[in-house]
Amino acid sequence: MEHIYDCIIIGGGPAGLSSGLYAARSKMDTLLIERTKYGGQITTTDELENYPGSIENCTGTNLSERMKNQAADFGVKFAKDEIVDVDMDGVIKVLKSKKDIYRARTIIIATGANPRLSGFKNERELRGRGISYCATCDADFFTDLDVAVIGGGDSAITEAIYLTKFAESVTVIHRRDALRATKSLQDKAFHNSKIKFIWNSTVEEAVGKEILEQLVIKNKITGEIRKLKVDGCFVFVGYDPISQLFKGKVTMDEKGYILTDEDMRTDISGVFAAGDIRKKSLRQVITAAADGAIAATTAEGYIEKNKI
Ligand code: NAP
Repeated sequence: MEHIYDCIIIGGGPAGLSSGLYAARSKMDTLLIERTKYGGQITTTDELENYPGSIENCTGTNLSERMKNQAADFGVKFAKDEIVDVDMDGVIKVLKSKKDIYRARTIIIATGANPRLSGFKNERELRGRGISYCATCDADFFTDLDVAVIGGGDSAITEAIYLTKFAESVTVIHRRDALRATKSLQDKAFHNSKIKFIWNSTVEEAVGKEILEQLVIKNKITGEIRKLKVDGCFVFVGYDPISQLFKGKVTMDEKGYILTDEDMRTDISGVFAAGDIRKKSLRQVITAAADGAIAATTAEGYIEKNKI
């Protein structure tokens, strides 16, 4: 007979890993499926200073490694695989990948979100050739060079500050005249002599034959166009949920974020969602981890109550 897990978690970021820890500690037979690397978005973060109890030099990568090892110690099994279809209406949920079929009594969706493209001309063409979405991965290439950062949120400002450890100069290009980022990050950025700002402006085009050479920038108020010579451009303009697999199956908002109640139940019984994939107001490692703990605990209660 096919193996039926108590709980399958899709996604191995902080929400998925925390779900795994709580599910396995409750003695649920748990499988976590991740298609790329464990840790999700936090692996692109160099410094996690707002996760309670963060130790010195706590990077996204080492925190996610510790989370994974902790979950594994309690018995979570891990599969590197990509789910391509889901049938979640029955009591036993069926997940199909290209190479396997998985079955479970409960599913926790923790697929997270992907960095969004800004939308300027040649953004895709010069991606990886001067245009990047991950400072932790690529900052080193720009040692002593000039880079731009697009965006004004926590990601843009955190990464702009990080980039000053490498680059000669960091120019933040923001579409408004005020940052969205937390005040403490703003203070750090405004006091960093390597960071300059171009306000009320958007990047219209990236120019370069083989690699990025300059950005064409438009002032939204005056309409003035200017060119900025840069060696690198880091784009941090938000994220899009990775929820295509569940479209038409689980209720979502207009942006594709999954709706849950406060105990992480979706509108399908036995299916829960945790982390950045949920419609919520604060997307942080701590809220993802908390969602995971709640989702696993609710899933355990669901199995107990329904005696499945
Ligand atoms: P975000 O908060 O949605 O900010 C996106 C920024 O990009 C905004 O400043 C936005 O401008 C700008 N933007 C959006 N689309 C644009 C476009 N097409 N062209 C140019 N600019 C554009 O996204 P985020 O900074 O990635 O943060 C996502 C979530 O993660 C947030 O909840 C954030 O608090 C959290 N986070 C936290 C930390 C931390 O605490 N250290 C670090 C990273 C992320 P407007 O301001 O005009 O809308």
